[in-house]
Amino acid sequence: MVGIAEIKAGLESIKLAGDIAQGLGALTSKADREAKIAELSREIAAAYQSVAVAALNEATMLEENQRLKREVADLKDNRAELEKYELLEAARGVFVRSIKESARGIEPPHWACDTCYREGKIRVLHSTGKLSHTRHTVLECTGCGRGYNCGVPREIPRVQRQPNYSVFGEE
Ligand SMILES: [Zn+2]
Repeated sequence: MVGIAEIKAGLESIKLAGDIAQGLGALTSKADREAKIAELSREIAAAYQSVAVAALNEATMLEENQRLKREVADLKDNRAELEKYELLEAARGVFVRSIKESARGIEPPHWACDTCYREGKIRVLHSTGKLSHTRHTVLECTGCGRGYNCGVPREIPRVQRQPNYSVFGEE
């Protein structure tokens, strides 16, 4: 919050200090002048404190504003990244997120964890090298650890497969 109340209080203190300073010349006794000077000092100190609080509030607000702008930019980037994926039934009843062909660019075809996706994170599924009882390759999310019995993505051309892919099924 910009310190509107503090700025108002500071301005009132400055006005009071001005009024006190104007009245100083008319005072004849030393005691009265010293009392007014003490009052003047208090008003100047109050004005300074109010302005300092307002400045601190403004600095805090600017910092928060910058943080929120960065957060919004990160969320937009993350949303754009999430929109590159679509839900796919990789094997009967096994759902993964598959990168869309149109959004893939130079990345190889791959699948991502649906559980992590729903939490706003893209985590690519990696082969564990194990076969499930249905002879599908077991893929695993390195983020949440969830296993997927769904083999390798069909989109991967055979020429790009590693020699040991034959043990993962589909051969
Ligand atoms: Zn996951």
